[in-house]
Amino acid sequence: MVHRQVTHQVTPFAKPQYTAAVNSRTPGPVRIDGGSAPGTGTWVRPVAMPGSGVMASVFSTVHLGDDGVTVVDPGWTGQGQEGVYLSGLDAFLRERGRRLEQITQVIVTHAHPDHVTAASCLLEATRARFIVGATEWRSVEAARSGNGAGDYSLSADEVGAPAGVLDTVAEQLEKPGVPGFIPRRSPDVLLSDGDRLSDLGLSADPHTEAVVTPGHTPGHLCLVNRETKLFIAADMILPEIHPGIGLGVGSLGGNPVVDYLTSLRRIGEFDDHLVVPGHGYVFTGLARRRRDTAHHVLSRAREVERVLAWNPSISVWRLASQLTWSSGWEELRGSPMLFSGLRQTMMYRDLVLSGDPGGTLDRWERDFDLDD
Ligand SMILES: [Zn+2]
Repeated sequence: MVHRQVTHQVTPFAKPQYTAAVNSRTPGPVRIDGGSAPGTGTWVRPVAMPGSGVMASVFSTVHLGDDGVTVVDPGWTGQGQEGVYLSGLDAFLRERGRRLEQITQVIVTHAHPDHVTAASCLLEATRARFIVGATEWRSVEAARSGNGAGDYSLSADEVGAPAGVLDTVAEQLEKPGVPGFIPRRSPDVLLSDGDRLSDLGLSADPHTEAVVTPGHTPGHLCLVNRETKLFIAADMILPEIHPGIGLGVGSLGGNPVVDYLTSLRRIGEFDDHLVVPGHGYVFTGLARRRRDTAHHVLSRAREVERVLAWNPSISVWRLASQLTWSSGWEELRGSPMLFSGLRQTMMYRDLVLSGDPGGTLDRWERDFDLDD
């Protein structure tokens, strides 16, 4: 399959936000919903983080409700920078007639540092309830209890890596735990797929419903407002770049690549919605972006399939060495990204081997109209 060069197929909602994002700058806040009265509506408030291109910021969504304020993904803050983070958010709210103390809900889409780190200080500074997806929280608990290795733990034997190369991995596996960026307190509300926030008695609800989209992490959470056609997608789908797959702090088993493709098909329900991604810019054109993202994933699967056709019993290590990596295999070999690269290779291998030769991938390609 030919790898198509991707042009900007989606339509940015706000041109300045687009321009800033693709130039590694943090765009200003943009109102995405809710009329024109000051102090109302739903805003996307980009938060700066260490990274370049569209990864120079992470999107925090702030909903100014009648009886409180909801923050979806507080975002990133550096160590010792919590005060700066809080006063920045407070200033944003004051410009709109609100205050930090009026935040009643902090919702986190997934347990990644760029989205959740600032939650700890925000929860401490307010009386807000802490809300996460039930499945995502189970993966955090799995990591905490040392049962989060899932089906893709790395043993040097199984991977077929040269002696010594995976020693650091072994060390990590002996020290399971939950990284410090996850708030220490337990969530007040756990969301399941289809839960409507208003049914849970939450104030300042942006009239949204939980959409659980496993793949990027085991219980990645999106939120949708079907009336105003607003889809808060976080890292489920991004403009410009493609989200990584299988990157949970803990795993709950199963194949994240299959989970991701299933989620990608499922969110087709929201193809005509305005999409708020975790990074980049707010956009429309989800149908095209879904197809393009599926193409990216399935091209990788086809690449793995070609190597397996040539040598069905090849080790994971050698299989990985035959694949194309953005920084090159030699570079990846020596980097901390090696582990997720090997895990990803195992996931794709299992996807390819899970059906009749070619059958499974053919089916997925048909699902996304990629079978021409
Ligand atoms: Zn992210």
